[in-house]
This record gives sequence, C-alpha cells and structure tokens, in this order.
Amino acid sequence: MDEMKEHVCIICSQVKQEGITIISQFVCEECESEIVNTDAEDAKYHFFIHQLKQIIVPNKV
Ligand SMILES: [Zn+2]
Repeated sequence: MDEMKEHVCIICSQVKQEGITIISQFVCEECESEIVNTDAEDAKYHFFIHQLKQIIVPNKV
C-alpha cells in the first residue's frame, strides 16, 4: 500500500491526498480537472490562472 501524503491545494486551499504537483506546488485532482474543463471565457478560469501564476512566477523577495 502506498503511503498517502496530505497536501494543501494552492487553488482551493483544502487538504487533499490526491492530485498533481506542479513545480513543487500541489493542485488537487478536483481543481486540476476543473481547470481542464473550464472555458477560457469563464471568470473562474482567470482565478485559476491567477493562482497558477503564483507558482510560475514566484514572488521575489
Ligand atoms: Zn483544490
């Protein structure tokens, strides 16, 4: 059996066990599938992109 680790999803801020890790940041599988299924014109899409930018472009000190 695999040891299930808990991670905090960067999108929904909830603790989940299953999901993907992008550049050491965790996105739960629910949010991942939501991103995939969200239309680019949907306002939610921009929220996801905003959250993802925090991974891709980390804040400089
Ligand atoms: Zn999530």
